[in-house]
Amino acid sequence: MTLAEIRKQFPILEQQVNGKPLIYFDNGATAQKPLAVIHSIDDYYQKYNSNIHRGVHHLSQLATNRYEESRDILQKFVNARKNYEIIFTAGTTGGINLVASSFGKKFLDKGDEVIISAMEHHSNIVPWQMICEERGANLRVIPINDKGELIYEEYIKLLSHRTKLVAITHISNTMGTINPVRKMIVNAHEIGAKVLIDAAQSVPHMKLDVQELDCDFLVFSAHKMFGPTGVGVLYGKEELLNEMPPYQGGGDMIKEVTFEKTTYNCLPHKFEAGTPNIAGGIATAEAVKFMNEVGFDFIEHQEHELLTYATKRLSEIEGVRIIGTSSNKASVISFVVAGTHPFDVGTLLDQMGIAVRTGHHCTQPLMNFFGIPGTIRASFAFYNTKEEVDVFIAAIKKAIMMLS
Ligand code: PMP
Repeated sequence: MTLAEIRKQFPILEQQVNGKPLIYFDNGATAQKPLAVIHSIDDYYQKYNSNIHRGVHHLSQLATNRYEESRDILQKFVNARKNYEIIFTAGTTGGINLVASSFGKKFLDKGDEVIISAMEHHSNIVPWQMICEERGANLRVIPINDKGELIYEEYIKLLSHRTKLVAITHISNTMGTINPVRKMIVNAHEIGAKVLIDAAQSVPHMKLDVQELDCDFLVFSAHKMFGPTGVGVLYGKEELLNEMPPYQGGGDMIKEVTFEKTTYNCLPHKFEAGTPNIAGGIATAEAVKFMNEVGFDFIEHQEHELLTYATKRLSEIEGVRIIGTSSNKASVISFVVAGTHPFDVGTLLDQMGIAVRTGHHCTQPLMNFFGIPGTIRASFAFYNTKEEVDVFIAAIKKAIMMLS
């Protein structure tokens, strides 16, 4: 597919906003959906809407087959050993809360430690604070340097026999820093700790292989990888998931219920209580197929071009300071403009048809580290173009003039 053909698959990109062609640079918050995903949701509700797993009737079987096929496609997508190592969740936040609660209850005791980093999204901070408080465990934080990179020696110093889990983002949603997760996993395993990778920002940009990474858990959201909202995936190693208690009780997660005792279902159902987002789960497979069709070579190349070009052009503007200057970055650029508030710049860009995100990006501790209230963040997807970057640069220059 050419870039023009790819863009045709995203009808939302064709519209005008405030009288200007829409430029969508807020992919880090949520990505747009290709027709295949939109049609899949429509198809489900028009043709085979039905509850899964328990029905003997035709529609229920159709829906169950499609939902379980989607699990198989996701298994291949991240190269899990077994399809039941793929647990459907409501998203990255849902997956982290599941692991924090379930792993925490089983494996965290007084004095144990969980390690996170200074660049985590709130959803990879707060669930750990909550479970640490409940279990009497302690949260330790890997510091970062001024470029927005982890200080690796400090990570090594934090690892000890008390460390039970390292929960780390693969790519910073605010700065785009790509963390050396493969190496971090090796070091954590050396002292017997488990590792959870927050892959919310990496799945849309690079091919992941959980066996090669050897992570114990990996979580992501469908909506950031061109799928629907309200669906996500938790990958976990079979033996660990088997040892962990259920997270929520309800339908589908049980084998047998009496008032005296309940026995739990096997994986993956043990962790999937209640009726899930069926249409969303099925459409997620379409998002995966679409990304595979576009191809990760194309995705990585296109995004690298956009990042390099936009970084160069932005750096040339007086008063612009880029937040997060690691040499290993994904297609996210955060910046501040001297003498302006990010919100004001974002509002002016919106008037020119450009969607960016402004604020703390759910990373308040990171904002405190840099001593700023927030940033303006442009985050690219493979359907964005250099021409859009040119318009964006001109719009920033205009916004600066208007605000000075
Ligand atoms: N982690 C990271 C790195 C993220 O970027 C996000 C979304 N901004 C999340 C977690 C939370 O994802 P969700 O809101 O889809 O659960």
